[in-house]
Amino acid sequence: MEFKDMGIDSALLSTIEQRGFTQPTAIQEQTIPLLKQGKDIIAQSETGSGKTMAFAIPILEKIQKGQGPQALVLTPTRELAKQVSEEFEKIGGGRFGVVTVYGGVGFEPQVHGLRQAEVIVATPGRMLDHLRQGNARLQKITHVVLDEADRMLEMGFIEDVETILKQVPRERQTMLFSATMPWEVRDISLRYLREPAEVSTRQFVDSSLLKESYLDCLDNEKFSLLVHLLRTHRPPRSMVFCGKRSTVDLVANNLHRQGITAKALHGGLTQGRREQVLAEFHQGKTLVLVATDVAARGLDIKGVTHIYNYNAPEEADDYTHRVGRTARAGEKGMAVSLISPTDYLNFRRVTSVRDIDREEAGEYPRIPFNPRLMDREGGLDRPFRGGFRGPPRRHGSRRFARRF
Ligand code: AMP
Repeated sequence: MEFKDMGIDSALLSTIEQRGFTQPTAIQEQTIPLLKQGKDIIAQSETGSGKTMAFAIPILEKIQKGQGPQALVLTPTRELAKQVSEEFEKIGGGRFGVVTVYGGVGFEPQVHGLRQAEVIVATPGRMLDHLRQGNARLQKITHVVLDEADRMLEMGFIEDVETILKQVPRERQTMLFSATMPWEVRDISLRYLREPAEVSTRQFVDSSLLKESYLDCLDNEKFSLLVHLLRTHRPPRSMVFCGKRSTVDLVANNLHRQGITAKALHGGLTQGRREQVLAEFHQGKTLVLVATDVAARGLDIKGVTHIYNYNAPEEADDYTHRVGRTARAGEKGMAVSLISPTDYLNFRRVTSVRDIDREEAGEYPRIPFNPRLMDREGGLDRPFRGGFRGPPRRHGSRRFARRF
C-alpha cells in the first residue's frame, strides 16, 4: 500500500511525497481509511509510530480554510503540542492556520491564533484558561484528537479534558490515541467516543534492530559504569533516563564535569530552558540528554542510537517508552540498563514481561561522583536557592553518593 493508493487529497499527497514519504506506517494504513469514513477511533499506538500524520491527513482533508477552529488536538505536554503543530503545518503546506496553545508563555500571542486558526493544538490546562477567559470558541469544532490519553491521565489532566470536551459540539469525530490502554482510558472512550473502531499496531521500534541488555553494578559504581559505557560506545546521540529530577540534575552535572556534553531535561525546568535543551540536542550540540520519563515521553527525537537506564523504570510501560526513543524508522539502537540493588524490585517488573540479556560490565575505572553538584554547572537554569542542603550530615556524603 502506498499513500497514492489511499485516495488522499492531491494537494496533501504532494506535500507528503515531497517530504519523502511514499508508504504509510501501520497505524496510518489502518486509521486513515476509518477516519476518512468519519468513524471515531481508539488507537493503541505511541509516538514514533507515525500517528500524527495518521490523524492530521484526514483532518486536513475535511477542514476548510477561513472557517475558524475546526480541529482540536489535546496533548499532555508542550513539547508534544509543538511537534504535532509542526506536523500539521508541514503536511498542510502552510495552507491552514495552526495555533499551539500551552502554558508557561504569554496568553496574548495565542489569543489571535485561537480566533483565526483552523487547527488548535493545546495542552489541557492552558486551553481551559483560554476558554474561561472567553478567548476561544469551540462551537465549530468537528474533529477532536486526544493524543497520548494515558499520559494526560497520569498527569492529572483528565478533568480539564472532560471540561473542554463538554464545550465541543457532540456532532463531531473523536480520535483517541494512547500508548497503553488502562481501564481509565477505556472509560473515557466509552463516554466521549461514539462506537469507536479499535486500532492497534505494533510499535515502530523494530525489535530486530534494538539490542537490549542490562549490566549489574553496585549503587556506588553506577556513575562510573555510565561514564565507561559512554566513553566506550561513543554514541552520537544518547539519552540517559533517571527516576527523579534530582538524579537527572546530578547525573547531567557530573557528566559535564567529566567533559561529556550532557544536559538535563525534566519538568522542573522553565519552558524556555526545556526548549533550549531540546533544540541543542536536535542540533547535535549536546551528546547526552539526561531525562525523567515524564519529560521525555512522546518526544520525537531523531537519531538517538543509545538509551541508558540509570535507574530502572517503575513500570514496564515506562521501559517500553524509554527504549522507544531509539531504533526508530529503520535505524539501529541499543538500550542498556544499569542495574544496582536499589533497582531490583522495579527491574523485575520489566523482565517479567520482556526478555533482556545480561551482559558483563568488565573492568572500568572509578570516576568521582559529586552528590552536591546541583548548581548551574551542567547548564541547569534553576537558580540555586539553597533549598538543597546536600546529604544529611549523619550519613556523610560518600554514603549519599552511593544511593545514586
Ligand atoms: P509520530 O508517531 O507522529 O510522532 O511520528 C514519528 C516520526 O515518523 C515523525 O518524525 C514522522 O516524520 C515519521 N513518519 C510519519 N509517517 C511516516 C511514514 N509514512 N514513513 C516514514 N516516516 C514517517
